[in-house]
Amino acid sequence: MNLAEFIIRIESFNANINIPLIRKAYEFSNEAHDGQKRQSGEPYIEHCLQVAFILAEQHMDSVTIAAGLVHDVVEDTDFTIEQIREEFGDEIAELVDGVTKIGAVHFSSREEQQVEYFRKMLLTMSKDIRVILIKLADRLHNMRTLEFMPPEKQKAIAQETSDVYCPLAHRFGINKIKVELEDLSLKYREPKIYGELIEMVRERREERDQYIEEVVVPIREAMTKNSIAATVNGRAKHLDSIFRKIKIRKVPFEEIYDLFAIRVIVNSERDCYHAMGILHTMWKPVPNRFHDYIANPKPNGYRSLHTTVIGPHQKMMEVQIRTHQMHYVSENGIAAHWLYKEGRQQMSKDDRQMIWLRDVLEWQKDMTNPAEFLEYLRIDLYSEDIFVYTPNGKLVHLPKGSTPLDFAFQIHTDVGLHTAGAKVNSRLVPLSTELNTADSVEIITNPNRTPSHDWLKLVKTSRARAKIKKWLNQAGFEQSVVLGRQILERKLKGLRQVMPDDATLLEAAEKLGKSSIDGLMGALGDGSVSARRLMDLVLPEDEKPQIGLVSRVMDRIRGSKGIKIHGMDNMMFRFAGCCQPIPGEKVIGFITRGRGVTIHRSDCNSALALQTDHPERLIDVSWDTDKDQSFIVQLEIVVEDRKNMLRDVTTAISDANTNVRAAEMHVRDTTALGTFVVEVASLSHLNRIFQKIRNVRGVLSVIRSKGHDSSSSS
Ligand code: MN
Repeated sequence: MNLAEFIIRIESFNANINIPLIRKAYEFSNEAHDGQKRQSGEPYIEHCLQVAFILAEQHMDSVTIAAGLVHDVVEDTDFTIEQIREEFGDEIAELVDGVTKIGAVHFSSREEQQVEYFRKMLLTMSKDIRVILIKLADRLHNMRTLEFMPPEKQKAIAQETSDVYCPLAHRFGINKIKVELEDLSLKYREPKIYGELIEMVRERREERDQYIEEVVVPIREAMTKNSIAATVNGRAKHLDSIFRKIKIRKVPFEEIYDLFAIRVIVNSERDCYHAMGILHTMWKPVPNRFHDYIANPKPNGYRSLHTTVIGPHQKMMEVQIRTHQMHYVSENGIAAHWLYKEGRQQMSKDDRQMIWLRDVLEWQKDMTNPAEFLEYLRIDLYSEDIFVYTPNGKLVHLPKGSTPLDFAFQIHTDVGLHTAGAKVNSRLVPLSTELNTADSVEIITNPNRTPSHDWLKLVKTSRARAKIKKWLNQAGFEQSVVLGRQILERKLKGLRQVMPDDATLLEAAEKLGKSSIDGLMGALGDGSVSARRLMDLVLPEDEKPQIGLVSRVMDRIRGSKGIKIHGMDNMMFRFAGCCQPIPGEKVIGFITRGRGVTIHRSDCNSALALQTDHPERLIDVSWDTDKDQSFIVQLEIVVEDRKNMLRDVTTAISDANTNVRAAEMHVRDTTALGTFVVEVASLSHLNRIFQKIRNVRGVLSVIRSKGHDSSSSS
């Protein structure tokens, strides 16, 4: 396509096109990309023209088309965004900048840092939605020319298109582009199936065309007879939608009746209902297959009447009835929206699409990884919708598979957070109940009810999941703050000290990288800061506790790794000093007031006592260790008192690939009692250490310490 041809063609879409601007953008882009070639061998400018053309086809404004022409200049040439700004002004520069930034996002990467890019993309989109329209046009042309890419790249790009760009096109209602992207993506993701589908659809083409003719002609006649001006046609559904029916509903190809849809396009909303009435007298409607998306538009703005009737030869067929304007919006989505309001820099904050975008921006802050974002795109944006009613008759759209809990969070975060039960069609149901279209849903709230981890399994929407996670994290933090304060008080009491003033605490907090006293207490509570470190900072030099080597080591092992506490995250725990459990041994947890959870061996005497006295404090725990994590065990060794004994035992222990964290030896008459604190990985590792120590000359006995709870200083 050359420039003259391009201008003639785009003028047919928008008569008011700013030709000097388009020319200038073309010249600039052509010069900037001079010498560059596409994989297809074509000059690079061809891609720019095609992208701009796709935008023109959507009746976009001159600025967007011009931005489409120069969209790759910053990314692929030496020109900077500032040069674009000088040349074309802020509006085009912002669009190009937005497209360039989205171009830097690689959705196939699941790395943590990508989350930031997703946020940037959402922010960019919310500033000017035309950015995503340019990006979609860019992706569409790249998909059309994907055959020139190496096969691995083809697969990756097709997957990303399916994961990210199809849902976005769907959400913005840009059906024309969505359908083409879906089919092209399928072609490269599932080449074999794609080929088979094409073949099967082609084989039935004659039969289908004949049937459509058999239906369309009488509809046209009936409309004319009733003085309804109507455009009636039938068309095959696109391959990806057939593919999904076969895959999801597991229906064989032969049994898919809706390989095509009949479309009736009329002039007014009133004619839509009239036309449907006429159709229902011609052919019997199939119950429950009627949808009034005119009265209740889909969240992406789609409006139409859908009905399925039993057509000639007892074949079911779907009919869509809409006005020309609805049809236009259904093909072009948000782009159509834009056209009607051309001249405005920003869409109104009340526009449906903008409300959606703001909503996403609000809660996406709680998303922590790209997988969640992709999940969001797949479920919340892309899956089939259902709609249900509030007790006041208000309509709420939800993705298919949603539960009353999703509904509650959709109504309001506060309703969601205090959901105690739900009634569907006036009957009490479990919160896990899957909702169906047209259900009437009532949420029963209780101010004392709050989310638990189990709720995460009950929701389908990312929105609800994000809200629940946020609440749980917040609640976990608050628990840690309370716990941290109790730990500190207890330690201070043991040393006969009073709580330092806030200034001292704040100073200590800052030294430990925390910005507030609560932050400090939270860190103490969840174990990321040890009480010992804090004491060192807040107590006067001569008041610091005098403690033995072993106790000091034992106190340092307080942590948050190695044990999974069921139903609780970020809970501080420590291994009991009395039995010092190591992986391979059965363990149980006890909630200890002010000190989190203490992990005991299940056969430990003090654990047995606790279990009898306070069964309510018992909590399920299991090992959750990293490969190179080590555990502290205190050993007591009785040896003959001889020269170099300490050294020999230490060497023996080291020979077993173990670190000695602390060692003490006390002489009693002719024997000596040694206490060793060692790191072990597992039970079998400990047994090897025992073996090594027993082989040392003069060792009389070696046992695991049954000692006191050494991390307690009270
Ligand atoms: Mn491009």
